[in-house]
Amino acid sequence: MDKKYQPETLAVRAGQVRSQFNEHSEALYLTSSYVFDNAAQAAARFSGEEEGNVYSRFTNPTVAAFQERLAVLEGAEACVATSSGMSAILSLVMALCSSGDHIVASTGLFGATQQLLGNIMTRFGVHTSFVSQTSVAAWEAAIRPETKLFFLETPSNPLTEIADISALVALAHARGVLVAVDNCFCTPILQRPLDLGADLVVHSATKFLDGQGRVLGGAVGGAKTLTDEVLKFLRTAGPTLSAFNAWVLLKGLETLKIRLEAQSANALELARWLEAHPKVARVYYPGLESHPQFELASRQQKSGGAIVAFEVKGARAEAWKVVDNCRLLSITANLGDTKTTLTHPASTTHGRITPEQRAAGGITEGLLRVAAGLEAVADLQSDLDSGLSLI
Ligand SMILES: *Cc1c(COP(=O)(O)O)cnc(C)c1O
Repeated sequence: MDKKYQPETLAVRAGQVRSQFNEHSEALYLTSSYVFDNAAQAAARFSGEEEGNVYSRFTNPTVAAFQERLAVLEGAEACVATSSGMSAILSLVMALCSSGDHIVASTGLFGATQQLLGNIMTRFGVHTSFVSQTSVAAWEAAIRPETKLFFLETPSNPLTEIADISALVALAHARGVLVAVDNCFCTPILQRPLDLGADLVVHSATKFLDGQGRVLGGAVGGAKTLTDEVLKFLRTAGPTLSAFNAWVLLKGLETLKIRLEAQSANALELARWLEAHPKVARVYYPGLESHPQFELASRQQKSGGAIVAFEVKGARAEAWKVVDNCRLLSITANLGDTKTTLTHPASTTHGRITPEQRAAGGITEGLLRVAAGLEAVADLQSDLDSGLSLI
């Protein structure tokens, strides 16, 4: 689709290919395989001589529509969809790294990404150094001759630390290193890593892209030479996105911009209110002037995003008081939903790492994370205040 259109137009229109029925809404192609006109065409499709669908582990028209729509939104030449965010990250690493290669990644990565890079991949000879997201010097010091990839996620979860994408790209490219950015928190509506020079963008489509907590999905976008490598791994290993999930995600993308903007506005209002609350010790939100990287965030992102973290005055008992007195906010580790969610990271998402690791990562016992949804802010505030007022 013509890329001159604005993002909200592309989110609604890009990627659709109408069938002979001329359907208005995108068709859902639930088929595992495709038929050929004759033996010669079957042979040509299998050999790749003729383009076209063969089997849905390789390609599917509904999945292709989702890939195209997301690619256009991210400003990517191509995009490959996967069954989940983790399978997107796995496919990226399996496609681009080999035994002996080295990765530099940020300490604040999503927990499962840390496990994948820090534990599982080491069994296959791919080693990762974890460094602070906010120190470009630390990334530079971690580069080795065999470094292949920088992997970062900005803002980080849950402390919303910002990585300077342009600065890390300049550093990486000077040394022949690829840069991949997990853009799950901002989505292309708030931040476009490829415009800042990153080579690859990764998504957990499960979060904001769906936005309504219905399906798992993921994607990798970038130059076609790179995404083709990811596709080669994917079509053989099999963590492909299902057509049904792609269809749900296509519909999710249509409302992405209005959701992200409304949820970010709610998050900012909550963050300001929390910052002024007498029972709150500290608020982490990139849209607040008090955020240590407010200026970088303002340059790199269109807004602070929908995730707010805050520390209550006290420790676990006080934080749990807030959680246990909520009647509206959902107590769940998921995020990116229209329903606001509340998480106590130290006892859930970060519960399995040691207390020392938690302390080093700034995950205190009093820390809570809110992923703002679309409810009225006044209702969210009064729900949080039920517990805060008891501290
Ligand atoms: C949830 C999440 C993932 C993993 O995605 P799944 O779809 O759950 O596999 C990766 N990165 C970030 C930042 C996430 O929040």
